[in-house]
Amino acid sequence: MSVRVVARIRPLLKAEIERDVIVDAASAPGSAEEKKSVVRIPNPKNESEAFSFQFNSVYGQEATQAHLFDGEIAPTVKHLFKGYDVTLFAYGVTGTGKTHTMRGGKTLAERGVIPRLLSSIYRRARKLEKDSAEETQVEVAMSYYEIYNDRVFDLFEPPEKRTPAGLPIRDVGNGKTQVVGLTERPCTSLKEFEMLYDQANVNRSTSATKLNAHSSRSHAVLCVKIIQTTAEQTRVSTASAIDLAGSEDNRRTDNKNERMVESASINKSLFVLAQCVEAISRKQARIPYRESKMTRILSLGQNQGLTVMILNLAPVRSYHLDTLSSLNFANRTK
Ligand code: ADP
Ligand code: MG
Repeated sequence: MSVRVVARIRPLLKAEIERDVIVDAASAPGSAEEKKSVVRIPNPKNESEAFSFQFNSVYGQEATQAHLFDGEIAPTVKHLFKGYDVTLFAYGVTGTGKTHTMRGGKTLAERGVIPRLLSSIYRRARKLEKDSAEETQVEVAMSYYEIYNDRVFDLFEPPEKRTPAGLPIRDVGNGKTQVVGLTERPCTSLKEFEMLYDQANVNRSTSATKLNAHSSRSHAVLCVKIIQTTAEQTRVSTASAIDLAGSEDNRRTDNKNERMVESASINKSLFVLAQCVEAISRKQARIPYRESKMTRILSLGQNQGLTVMILNLAPVRSYHLDTLSSLNFANRTK
């Protein structure tokens, strides 16, 4: 079981061109490598002083979708095919690039982690089916849901069919759980996956307006199951990719009533997530995964596997305090 924590600083947006860039990526002091692994940010109380935070890697403003995928995610695919689970999180304040990192834009170059991961999975599956000594069959299936106010909603269901309480969770032994009634769709090709994924994303945005909540208030959890079958055995592993709810500090924004309920549940689930990731990276025996719905459904840390936490950051001053709290959050999980 292992965790990598990597930071990604997004480039300036058009509207930000005049703004003040205060966050940058650097190489670790004394390291012979050119690889960047430090984020530098001024101390808000005394700007002549800078704080440095070290991670497994840091991707600066110039890093493309391909750099991030090839450096951090592509290497996990062989673990998936060995039967281990892989869990990827995008953590950060709203507007720092979580959805861009996970889903990405429409062009090939702008494709995010998820379509690249699926493309890589299908490529490896086809190669395995063709080249392996034993006859092997690889099947892929997906489920996609969001967790909003600690309730689980199937993104394959149109929003008007949702029951307010969401879907129940059941323990199925070995620390694993099942979301009762969740749709699982087989997808035989990248094309089919992309069609289903786009369709479900439409449900995500329409439900957001119906519930009077922006999609940044929910966690979007995509699970891709890989089933490898030979005459001797069946091996199942899951890749999960989670576009987390925005981590902004709601005490500083004017959030009342409904918004405060949302904030409390977001804060709690992100807090439990941090505790789980910290426990896994310190190889502690007890991982408090049962304490929030998301970590419980993911059975986080219950099976051998890899977790990659991508910390999304904006480089500009308007995010200063939020960036610092994101960095402190991620720092605890190392
Ligand atoms: P979040 O999901 O964290 O709220 P988004 O992914 O929606 O943030 O990103 C906010 C804006 O910044 C979007 O317009 C997005 O296209 C842009 N953006 C984020 N990251 C990048 C990047 N690495 N390169 C180019 N544009 C980016
Ligand atoms: Mg988003």
